Amino acid sequence: MKRELFGEEHALFRAAFRRFAQAEVAPKVAEWNARGISDRETWRKLGQAGYLGPAMPERYGGGGGDFVYDAIVFEELADIRAHALQSSLHTGICMPYLLHYGSEEQRERFLRPAISGECLLAIAMTEPSTGSDLAAVQTRALRDGDEYVIDGAKTFISNGQNCDLVIVVAKTDLRAVPAHRGISLILVEADRPGFVRGRKLDKLGLRGQDTSELFFEQCRVPVANVLGVEGQGFAYLMRQLQQERLVIAVSSIASCRRSLDDTIAYVKERHAFGKPIAAFQNTQFTLAELASEVEIGQVFVDRLIAAHVRGDELVTEVSMAKQWVTELQKRLTSKCLQLFGGYGFMNEYPIATDYADAAVQSIYAGTNEIMKLIIARKLGLDS
Ligand SMILES: Cc1cc2nc3c(=O)[nH]c(=O)nc-3n(C[C@H](O)[C@H](O)[C@H](O)COP(=O)(O)OP(=O)(O)OC[C@H]3O[C@@H](n4cnc5c(N)ncnc54)[C@H](O)[C@@H]3O)c2cc1C
Repeated sequence: MKRELFGEEHALFRAAFRRFAQAEVAPKVAEWNARGISDRETWRKLGQAGYLGPAMPERYGGGGGDFVYDAIVFEELADIRAHALQSSLHTGICMPYLLHYGSEEQRERFLRPAISGECLLAIAMTEPSTGSDLAAVQTRALRDGDEYVIDGAKTFISNGQNCDLVIVVAKTDLRAVPAHRGISLILVEADRPGFVRGRKLDKLGLRGQDTSELFFEQCRVPVANVLGVEGQGFAYLMRQLQQERLVIAVSSIASCRRSLDDTIAYVKERHAFGKPIAAFQNTQFTLAELASEVEIGQVFVDRLIAAHVRGDELVTEVSMAKQWVTELQKRLTSKCLQLFGGYGFMNEYPIATDYADAAVQSIYAGTNEIMKLIIARKLGLDS
């Protein structure tokens, strides 16, 4: 089905980015996956070419476009399986915090170089003892004169080794009731004494991403590094969830399509009992069902993108999309892998890594159980 989301400018942007990604990104994916980290040079090239922050305001060096431009970048990177480049996190999730809550001085100092690819961003919410229950974070940033002194440990942080600036979720008021009112977002530059990068974690999938531990040991930052208003951190996090979850749905449905297309090509080539695997009714029914679901998912995601660009309030619908599409991706990669037979289990066949990469989609950016709680609440089921 023709996707109605894109105007002529979007189509030109996609064509240009696809050429860029084929030349500058695709040849590096295998190396990044082997090393467990992407290279900074490619980030700089992405920034210089205008592909980090195409939806950010021009006055900070952005493209001045809408979220559809971001979505195009995320889709194209998913299509070439460049998961190592966490552009969706850097551009789609972290930058909006700087834009919406940062002071003019913070935007100049951090957003501008983030857009140009010089300053790589991360956001540190999760801790070893808490993930879904964000109000329970234990990292503290306590005032000492004109500074905050930060102590605590974060884990599973994307861009953890590469990042230059971390948006840290920390308690600035330990006595606040309810506890989430004591949470603030603090900007921590990676060269601050007391900021320590821990292990780059060994993962099942997304092997090219530098998901890491981070530690804050009496790390001092000026009070001016608070993002927005002290004590409003939790509210800011909640407000950004819509785009954060939409970003996952956009990438996830694009990954579904990649896995499906590769499987369709494979079953036409591979023969058993004198005919292509594609000729078996089981193959046809399986792929027909999956292709239908990918179309349905894409239509839903596209409608959400359009409504998000209009500025609609969609937290429930985006939660529906995040949980439904990522469950589809897990089911789809499992069924497609089966159609590859033994080759599907071999890492040299991308369907094997697609299967492993899909597993995390229902976990990060809010688990799918948390998505269902949000949906249930909207249905009036929690009272
Ligand atoms: C590859 C990767 C990258 C990540 N990147 C980042 C990052 O950049 N920054 C960051 O801050 N974090 C990041 N995370 C962390 C991620 O957001 C958390 O793992 C996620 O929020 C879940 O938290 P948890 O792991 O502590 O699980 P827990 O919260 O301990 O949950 C365990 C299980 O209990 C379920 N559960 C919890 N509460 C409820 C409830 N109320 N009702 C029903 N079920 C419930 C969960 O759904 C889950 O199935 C990343 C994680 C991974 C794996």
